[in-house]
Amino acid sequence: MSHDMEHPPLSPFPAAARLALADTQLRANLRHATHTIREKRDAAVAEVDDWQALRESGRAIKERTLRHLDSHLLELEASVTRAGGTVHWARDGDECNRIVADLVRAHGAREVVKAKSLTTEETRLNAALARHGIHALETDLAQLIIQLAGETPSHILVPAIHKNRAEVRELFLRSLPQAPADLSDDPRALAEVARLHLRERFLAAGVGISGANFAVAETGTVAVVESEGNARMCTTLPDVLITVMGIEKLIPTWEDLEVYLQLLPRSATAERMNPYTSLWTGVRPGDGPQEFHLVLIDNGRTSVLADEVGRQALRCIRCSACLNVCPVYERTGGHAYGSTYSGPIGAILTPLLVGVRNAPTLPYASSLCGACYEACPVKINIPEVLLHLRQQVVGAEGPRTREAVAMRLLAVLFGHRQLYERAQRVGRLLQAPLARRGMIRARLPGPLAGWTDARDLPALAAQSFREWWGRGR
Ligand code: SF4
Repeated sequence: MSHDMEHPPLSPFPAAARLALADTQLRANLRHATHTIREKRDAAVAEVDDWQALRESGRAIKERTLRHLDSHLLELEASVTRAGGTVHWARDGDECNRIVADLVRAHGAREVVKAKSLTTEETRLNAALARHGIHALETDLAQLIIQLAGETPSHILVPAIHKNRAEVRELFLRSLPQAPADLSDDPRALAEVARLHLRERFLAAGVGISGANFAVAETGTVAVVESEGNARMCTTLPDVLITVMGIEKLIPTWEDLEVYLQLLPRSATAERMNPYTSLWTGVRPGDGPQEFHLVLIDNGRTSVLADEVGRQALRCIRCSACLNVCPVYERTGGHAYGSTYSGPIGAILTPLLVGVRNAPTLPYASSLCGACYEACPVKINIPEVLLHLRQQVVGAEGPRTREAVAMRLLAVLFGHRQLYERAQRVGRLLQAPLARRGMIRARLPGPLAGWTDARDLPALAAQSFREWWGRGR
């Protein structure tokens, strides 16, 4: 279903980016983190001889699956039900949150333990549960940091990438009673405090909530991969497990899973395999949760599927490789994108999900360098989708924008040689006070400032090629 009409407009990217760019500590943190992950990833990918063939399989399987998504989803529902689970369908975030809140309330729980889940970030589940008096405790270390800081994630894989360890130490000292006064900023010491904070709560929780990396339609098996083991605790210790999953996460068979379990860890954390790969199929008496609910959510995905160019964004396996190579993301960080999904994938997925009218600046949050496309393990052509969305933005602005008028004037100029040559001569006269050594570095007045705000403008040459040629070389 489309969210074009009802979604509130996001704040413009350029304004938010400007604020982020002014924060030098943020830029230093981001640069260090993205470059470290990027280099490790390159090495991990270089180990695999058939990486390009794997990427191609990753692309093809998802593309084929999306073409028959309706029947695969019904197969998944039947498989989960057969294995003792219950499937719920949610049209949008509100419906999803209602379903989850009702389930938690039915079990009388006041607190739930949560594994990291972008989909529940998208639906703002924690805030919705809080309105029902239910506390959702984030158990992923980075996600816990974000929750304690009262912020939103700034990276789809490393939500607290914008914080360095000194900042995390300060936060823990302020907000965790378990933190000793002499807490160091050593990552092991910080993780230990978080572990102490979480352990009791894990054991007491009656309900766990998770997202899903994949779900296998033929068996109803759900897969979650992670590095810390907290998701495994969330999905095994409580008596009731609720998994929220976007409908595009489905894959048809176990054989398909093999491809993604190779692509994802290397692309995401530069690991050969994930430290924890949890797989569960329905419920089993006396082993793990005795009640399993799978909430399948649309929230704009079917309208993305209807977009012939944009639908490739639904192949995304949320590895974050595109964020880590993006020169724009590296400088602004994730908050500037104003949505759950940041970086290159956010610049296309968010406008596709909420409607381009509600996020018209995001398709421009890119230099179109193509690094994201090269890095993407499922070959999403992000620059192609960006251009496709920009066309929609320009189309929606109508034919009277300043840019459209300027283009029409240029078309007239380029179509008439004498007019063009005269304009060149006038241009040379006008630029004379501003041009220095072939460049205009001053800020131009009026609408022309849009160009010189962010870059220098090459000045018109003293004579054109034709003039030089005409004067006998
Ligand atoms: S678009 Fe590709 S590279 Fe970016 S997060 Fe998704 S799968 Fe990874």
